[in-house]
Amino acid sequence: MDLIDGNQVAAAIIAELKAEVASLRGRKPCIALVRVGEDPASVSYVKKKEKTAAEIGITSRVILPPVTITQEELFALLDQLNADPTVDGILVQSPLPKHIDEVAVFRRVSAAKDVDGFNTLNLGKIAQEDPTGFVACTPAGIMELLARSGVDLKGKHVVVLGRSLIVGKPVALLALQKKAGANGTVTICHSQTKDLPAITRQADVLIAAIGRAEFVTADMVKPGAVVIDVGINRVADAAKKTGYRLTGDVNFATVSPLASKITPVPGGVGPMTVAMLMKNTVKAYRLQVAA
Ligand code: NDP
Repeated sequence: MDLIDGNQVAAAIIAELKAEVASLRGRKPCIALVRVGEDPASVSYVKKKEKTAAEIGITSRVILPPVTITQEELFALLDQLNADPTVDGILVQSPLPKHIDEVAVFRRVSAAKDVDGFNTLNLGKIAQEDPTGFVACTPAGIMELLARSGVDLKGKHVVVLGRSLIVGKPVALLALQKKAGANGTVTICHSQTKDLPAITRQADVLIAAIGRAEFVTADMVKPGAVVIDVGINRVADAAKKTGYRLTGDVNFATVSPLASKITPVPGGVGPMTVAMLMKNTVKAYRLQVAA
């Protein structure tokens, strides 16, 4: 079994971006990071994004509206950022407070600055295989991890567990694309799928994104399969100072001996998400400068 090391691949992408940004003359790429309220996970995610941007040489503008901001006020803020020629990418950290319609916010971010890839236009561009779009960071990170680990999906049965707009649907469309590295035969499973193990056992490449700790067990995996674990779940663990440990959607202990390649949690898909956000920001900058 080969361990797919997301930290190592992400570090390589960050180093490539750093060299690319260093070669740019004039204004550097800039990402606006909008974090509403003080959700602890969001605080740490935005810090990590700010730190990675700084490491690459990308300017970040962190904007911290209070949790009481109204949807209209948030829209006005996004309109300002959309119109600001010195801002290339905009990220609105989710989750947003309950009184705000998250999908409406994703739509409000200009498609040209939508480095998170959740705008309707960018999701549509995946289906149209239009390379000018921005692919959502986690699905893009999964594809990059597979490519850099030498996994070609051509002709393979790719089974995606989960149909969210953020991971399951876009990664399934990417695996299906008619281009080098993709060309998979894709099945998407969800909570209404009947006899899930019978389907997952057919997978040459299994991508688990359901948010259920250690859901995928050895009896659900074909020997030799490539297993990508997207899940990030907190499981109570009295031995840890925090009182919990992070685990994926795959039972790593029993599945890893069977798999030909597998991503760990943490240290698999997670680090790729931030690296791809930065890659999208440099792409947005280039498109903006060329426009
Ligand atoms: P969502 O909750 O939005 O979607 C979960 C999907 O899994 C749904 O389609 C749901 O089906 C399906 N599902 C849930 N339970 C079952 C079940 N028992 N059997 C079959 N299908 C099931 O989750 P996300 O896609 O946002 O995230 C999935 C996981 O990935 C989470 O652990 C999340 O933390 C993690 N994640 C990790 C990222 C990273 O950077 N590594 C980034 C984003 C997410 P249905 O549609 O029918 O409800």
